Order: sequence, then C-alpha cells, then structure tokens
Amino acid sequence: MCGIVGYVGKREAKDLLIEGLRRLEYRGYDSAGVALVEGKKLKRVRALGKVAELEKKTDGVAYTATTGIAHTRWATHGKPSEKNAHPHADCGGGIALVHNGIIENYSELREQLIKQGHRFSSETDTEVVAHLVEEHVKKSGYVEEAFALAVKELRGTYGIALVSVAEPEKLFVARMG
Ligand code: GLU
Repeated sequence: MCGIVGYVGKREAKDLLIEGLRRLEYRGYDSAGVALVEGKKLKRVRALGKVAELEKKTDGVAYTATTGIAHTRWATHGKPSEKNAHPHADCGGGIALVHNGIIENYSELREQLIKQGHRFSSETDTEVVAHLVEEHVKKSGYVEEAFALAVKELRGTYGIALVSVAEPEKLFVARMG
C-alpha cells in the first residue's frame, strides 16, 4: 500500500518529505520518489527500492524548495521501475503528482490524450492524470480549476497530491473512495 507525503511551508521541503516517507515505510512499497518546486522548475528524483536509495540520490544536492510531494509506490499498473515510480509529470514538466489507488478508465484517457499530442513516459495508470490536468490548464489557466475538471473525468479510487510551478506555494489534493 503506497504512502503520500506533502509539504508546503517555510522550511526546506526535501528532508521533511524523506522523513515522512520513512515513517510510512511499514506500509510496504517497491519504489520511492520526490518532486520539489525549485524556483520555476520542478525537480523530480525517483528510485527503485528503498527510501534509502532515494536519499542517496538526493544527498549532497542543495535543494531550496519549500514545497514538495513524495511517494512510496505499490505497483498496480506497470512493473516496479524508476520510470514507473511517482511523482509523474506532464509534457511541459511544470506539473507533478503522486497517486494512491487505481484509475479504472486510464486506457481510454491515455488514448484520448495521445491523440491530443501528449507523450507518455511510464506504463502507469497515474500518468494520465498529469496530462489531463495539463490539458485543462491550457483551457482554464488555473491549476485548481484544471485539477477539479480533470478529477471529474476519473473513475476509480484515489488519493492524489499535486504541485505546479505556476503556483509554487500550494499543494493540491483530491480523494475518492
Ligand atoms: N496505480 C498506481 C501505480 O501503479 C498507484 C499505485 C499505488 O497506490 O502505489 O503506480
């Protein structure tokens, strides 16, 4: 069962997020990852295996982000691997999200998004959500509204946490079931 951690505040996010993941390790998982809002860019770091592997990859790097999300994954769609590990991002790389659960209608959504020109880089059900939000942001311009519209198109059970460089001091969350 996966774990989700989010942080927005005044402190540097990376260590807090990794500490949060450690506290959720008892739940069992196959990979771990973090997305940090570093100025105008999102920095994603993911690792197959233990949180300690993720920590090794982030050690010694000076991150300044005070907003971020993190995840431990228990694969349901797509094998355990670094590219299937969360967070997942949109084509533009400005949106990243983590997800617990299953998006039942992901293959229809994926087909539709590919037709609209989106490129996928994982085998997960989760990645469709990032591209769907990106598609809605193009129309509405606002992340919160775009996320709400995207979530309306999803079938299944989920907990989702999302960050965007467009609104760096916010965490967006949604839950169903
Ligand atoms: N269905 C998603 C995946 O396979 C989320 C799994 C989870 O809850 O960790 O990546």
